[in-house]
Amino acid sequence: MTHRVLTALFAHETNTFSQCPTTLDNYRDYVLAFGDEIPDAIAGSVLELVGVENAAREYGWDLIHTVAAWATPSGPVTREVWEAGAGAILEAARGGGGLDGVILCLHGAMTTVDYPDAEGELLVQLRKIIGPDVPVAITLDLHANVTRQMARHADIVCAYRTYPHVDQVATAERAAAVLERAMAGEVSPTVHLAKRNMLVGMDHGRTTTDNPMTRLLERAEKLEAADPGVLLVSLQAGFSPADFAEVGPSVAVTGDGDSPRYRTLAEAYMNYAWENRDFDSNEYLDVATALARLAEAGGGDGPVVIADASDNPGAGAYGDSTFLLQGMIGAGLENACFGTICDPATAAELVAAGAGATVNVSLGGKVDPAYGPPLDLAGEVVAVTDGTYVAQGPRWRGVTQRLGPTAVFRVGGVDIVVASNRVQCTEIETFSHAGIDPRTRDVVAVKSMHHFRAAFEPIARAVLIVDSGALATKDYHRLPYKNLRRPIFPLDLD
Ligand SMILES: [Zn+2]
Repeated sequence: MTHRVLTALFAHETNTFSQCPTTLDNYRDYVLAFGDEIPDAIAGSVLELVGVENAAREYGWDLIHTVAAWATPSGPVTREVWEAGAGAILEAARGGGGLDGVILCLHGAMTTVDYPDAEGELLVQLRKIIGPDVPVAITLDLHANVTRQMARHADIVCAYRTYPHVDQVATAERAAAVLERAMAGEVSPTVHLAKRNMLVGMDHGRTTTDNPMTRLLERAEKLEAADPGVLLVSLQAGFSPADFAEVGPSVAVTGDGDSPRYRTLAEAYMNYAWENRDFDSNEYLDVATALARLAEAGGGDGPVVIADASDNPGAGAYGDSTFLLQGMIGAGLENACFGTICDPATAAELVAAGAGATVNVSLGGKVDPAYGPPLDLAGEVVAVTDGTYVAQGPRWRGVTQRLGPTAVFRVGGVDIVVASNRVQCTEIETFSHAGIDPRTRDVVAVKSMHHFRAAFEPIARAVLIVDSGALATKDYHRLPYKNLRRPIFPLDLD
């Protein structure tokens, strides 16, 4: 029997402290396609929907595509985006023919101007249409803030198991396999959620080191293999710059049937996360310390990569903080490159001036000068591009990234990629499309917390992580939280 399955990718990680709303144009700059456009739009990419299509072929599903939408993290999602994305999903669900199952590829930390828990709201509205009996699987980013509403209305919860996230396709396939069994009547999945009063934990979900996250993942995979009732154990590290009551790490166990033992299991995993809540594998350096470490690093093969985690557009920061860039220029670094500063007005000036021009500009610090004021710089435009390239790294392979009009601006020994759109620097191509080979540089600066490691760690001789104090700072006491459940670690506890 052919099963009719509705699917969608509708994702956003919303930094509620950002003053930049997330618009349809932000989605157009990354991934936005509807209905029949979707198979071509995702072909050859690492997006979850490719995993859903693989499953549909394997199980003979009649797959109904609705929307494929992903945008760089930033402020609350506009009503226009919600109506387009959620609207496409709900309209298809209302359509004739009936559904046997649903698999939605979500992030799990989307906040819109109307709904703090947007994914929960989407599932509530979907259930009103399809009723309680059609099985619904959701895939999540491992930085999801999973809510009780999401757990109540989804039957299957399945988050990524890698950070850097390089397993989107495998995650969708894992969720689809359980959905297939549910549609065949072999299992009756139910979701059991456990949380603690934690804003952060599980080492931010990193899977590149021995830490609470990787230990729990190992336990989860063993348990799934040994216990036929445990269909999935899903571990979420949470997304902390979200001022909302249900923020934070969580464990969701999808069990066969509604036995209390699944809750006990979820609580046991969460106990371990709580006991190890202080663990953080990163050492966050201020700019001066990072530059001093750089001076001590000496020579060697490959660059030292300096990552400013606090101005990471991948966590909703503005990407135009100037603290680190100012330090690098002031230190007189040679053979360095910097990716990126998001400053559309300056990018337009540099593009208009053209390659070879010598110009004075006021660079960066435009959205909120509190995170580093604009820098008055004299330099040379060494390249101009349209900022468009297809990513080749493990994080976004096959996905087109669009920096918008872009220029490489050389100030002293630092080649700065000045972009018009906010895109986390996770790809070698962010530099190489503009003629910079980061492998040959002594210093490569990126605005990223951890995803850069997928492509840059293999070429780096050392990595330094900086917290320059920008919007995505790890100093949580600096953020004006108002809506959290209190007390909460680390703001009130320990
Ligand atoms: Zn994530």
